[in-house]
Amino acid sequence: MTLNRRKFIGTGVAAATALTAPMVMGASHGKPRVVVIGGGAGGATAARYIAKGSKGEIDVTLVEPTRSYYTCFFSNLYIGGFRELSSIAHSYGTLASQYGINVVHDWAIGIDRDAKMVSLAGGGKLPYDRLVLSPGIDFVDGAVQGWDVTKQNKMPHAYKAGSQSELLKAQIESMPQGGVYAMVAPPNPFRCPPGPYERVSMVAHVLKEKNPTAKIIIADPKPKFSKMALFQEGWANHYDGMIDWIGPDFGGDVVEVNADEMTVSIDGEVTKVDACNVIPAMKAGRICEMAEITEGNWAPVNPHTMQSRADENIHVLGDASSQGDMPKSGFSANSQAKVAAMAIRGALTGSKVFPAKFSNTCWSLIDTEDGVKVGATYEATDEKIAKVDGFISATGESAELRARTFEESVGWYAGITSDMFG
Ligand SMILES: Cc1cc2nc3c(=O)[nH]c(=O)nc-3n(C[C@H](O)[C@H](O)[C@H](O)COP(=O)(O)OP(=O)(O)OC[C@H]3O[C@@H](n4cnc5c(N)ncnc54)[C@H](O)[C@@H]3O)c2cc1C
Repeated sequence: MTLNRRKFIGTGVAAATALTAPMVMGASHGKPRVVVIGGGAGGATAARYIAKGSKGEIDVTLVEPTRSYYTCFFSNLYIGGFRELSSIAHSYGTLASQYGINVVHDWAIGIDRDAKMVSLAGGGKLPYDRLVLSPGIDFVDGAVQGWDVTKQNKMPHAYKAGSQSELLKAQIESMPQGGVYAMVAPPNPFRCPPGPYERVSMVAHVLKEKNPTAKIIIADPKPKFSKMALFQEGWANHYDGMIDWIGPDFGGDVVEVNADEMTVSIDGEVTKVDACNVIPAMKAGRICEMAEITEGNWAPVNPHTMQSRADENIHVLGDASSQGDMPKSGFSANSQAKVAAMAIRGALTGSKVFPAKFSNTCWSLIDTEDGVKVGATYEATDEKIAKVDGFISATGESAELRARTFEESVGWYAGITSDMFG
């Protein structure tokens, strides 16, 4: 066995973790072992579907540092005052008690692909026959001049939900009358393409009520964004004159921030701001780099099974993977997890495997009961996850249809979170 593939995340993660030594499952009973890293939309779903489908024939261990997972989906609605934070928090108790999943609250800090072994920050080691990686995203270093993660308490990203969402909401609510909220939007591809624009809608909703003379600036490196016509129509209808979107034609791609001064410079023009939401360029969660399965920022996969192109014993799900035509969304990650779970059960227990099919819908709320959506179905080709057909809300839809679309999203949230966590 060589050690050249054994990689460890540096002291940053380990030092930030003060957890007790984890329970480590051995191979004593001879069952095949699946280790899942990341208990979010992809990982929790995969763990549950493998455990449920294999009826105890496979040992499933889920590694996730947090005891409460806050969904990014609907975190914008929390910022807008439409949800309580507690309503987007989920725990792993049912996965452990009802599905027999060994839930280990720790960070994975290394993967030895030759030995098929995961190392944990707490010192434990987990052997696997198949490994599922669904660690979500990390930020690209130096993507926004003047910003790095040490600035996230002054200029939050709120692109991992929980305390960051709370912080951003508090900053928006304490802006002075007539103050300025700035968003630095990310380049493609990134987690939740409509997410920044739904967030702006929710911020505008709060400001319209509490601070109607406040302004919102969005510096955007992209000339177009998801559901652009729908958002722009909604902003004109609900928040006229409040939102200034600055695309690359006007310097939205030449941005520098200063967290101490609370300024944003767009194409050299410096603006003093009262709240600043920096959403930097993204890449696969760092453990994927450690495993040496990334190409560029993401981990390429075989769309039929979600197996890493670099290692057939590893499946990569959700935001961390190169997903072809699929957007990086919770719905996508959940859909990919079911494909991977079926492939893993097939490989380890001989159960039947059907052709991979995927689907996604992304709903966004623009203002009270004004919901819009975009979605598609996909199939696996040898090259990529390829779009089959799609749909999108139309501009000018009736208020009744928009209210129904919002209701649909509420039902989807309840459904996907119970599909993830049982
Ligand atoms: C503001 C916002 C709004 C959104 N709205 C929607 C929406 O309406 N609909 C939708 O479908 N999607 C939405 N999304 C996108 C969605 O949240 C993500 O695409 C989805 O969570 C991706 O799932 P994942 O499993 O790849 O990652 P995650 O759900 O982020 O899960 C990753 C997990 O891995 C854990 N982890 C990371 N590294 C390690 C490690 N080394 N060891 C152990 N554990 C680790 C993390 O703690 C985390 O819990 C939104 C996102 C944002 C930011």
